Amino acid sequence: MDKISVTLTTNYKEKPAGPDIPFGVFTTDHMFLMNYDREQGWHDPRIVPYAPFQMDPACMVLHYAQEIFEGMKAYRDEEGRIRLFRPEENFKRMNDSCERMSIPKIDVDFCVEAVKQLVTLEKDWVPTAPNTSLYIRPFIFATDIHVGVHASHTYQFAVILSPVGPYYATGLAPVSIMIEEDDVRAVRGGTGFTKCGGNYAASLRAGEKAEEKGFSQVLWLDGVERKYIEEVGSMNVLFKIGGKIVTPALNGSILPGITRKSCLQLLRDKGYEVEERRLSVDELIGAARDGSLEEAFGSGTAAVVSPIGSLYYKGETFVISGGGIGPVAQDLYDTLTGIQWGRVADPYGWSQVIC
Ligand SMILES: *Cc1c(COP(=O)(O)O)cnc(C)c1O
Repeated sequence: MDKISVTLTTNYKEKPAGPDIPFGVFTTDHMFLMNYDREQGWHDPRIVPYAPFQMDPACMVLHYAQEIFEGMKAYRDEEGRIRLFRPEENFKRMNDSCERMSIPKIDVDFCVEAVKQLVTLEKDWVPTAPNTSLYIRPFIFATDIHVGVHASHTYQFAVILSPVGPYYATGLAPVSIMIEEDDVRAVRGGTGFTKCGGNYAASLRAGEKAEEKGFSQVLWLDGVERKYIEEVGSMNVLFKIGGKIVTPALNGSILPGITRKSCLQLLRDKGYEVEERRLSVDELIGAARDGSLEEAFGSGTAAVVSPIGSLYYKGETFVISGGGIGPVAQDLYDTLTGIQWGRVADPYGWSQVIC
């Protein structure tokens, strides 16, 4: 791959005053781009001033949604250095998404290097207040100008950056979750394991319905039998049942979260018995009824860990951990955020200082 060219902006933006920066509203001064065509492969890697894309109305992504994305963060540690958390994992997963969506694969190491260069250039945008970060959004979309169904022959790859405030303004807070019985997010053989925009488009209606009823997100059941637990909104889900950690196995319709994977490693190393398996909603509700469901929490890059205080299913509300924060969720949150912000020792090499 060519060297990354850099064109600096002449029009620097004002940075948001922290610490309560709303999620996904502000973008930085520059972005990373590269393009794909059949002759040159991925080419013309460049850092350029942040600017709108020009798009032909027949641009394929607008019609057939051939689009994937990733989500990761840059963290400022107490010494003022900037850190990334397991960035290779994001680009390996992006390649899995590429493969399913007939998008040409990217070079993992090159993309990690591109993110490092972009974040280093924009390091003043990584906010300084505790638990703030710079959200990193890589994405790829189809750019052929053709209203006809086939895999595009040309693609745009981009990385944009967005400073974000703390997910929890006042420390970890439990959420209330509705188990969705009608809409489904994904089926095996479909695109559930990829981070594609289409999965989210199909999930919006259930999310809106849950919000109207006062719940913060939905818990998805499997798309075939509506019987097995899958994941929560944009998070994976973990439970503590009878002393063991139970989480749905990665079966093709669940997104393989990097936070999930990190939580499971930490839990195993802390001595917990961890089961990745099918978990039916009946088993879960049974455990809630007989008191063996000790904790439930979501895991994802945005919130890190999100304790579930109550589950709503078929007209009944089940309170978990007394509606508070369970000790496992709190411990995982403290350990993971400690590693991410460089506050605690990282025996895994997950946190990488980049500048
Ligand atoms: C991104 C995402 C997750 C969480 O993945 P992380 O790598 O932990 O951020 C879980 N579920 C869905 C549907 C997602 O898109």
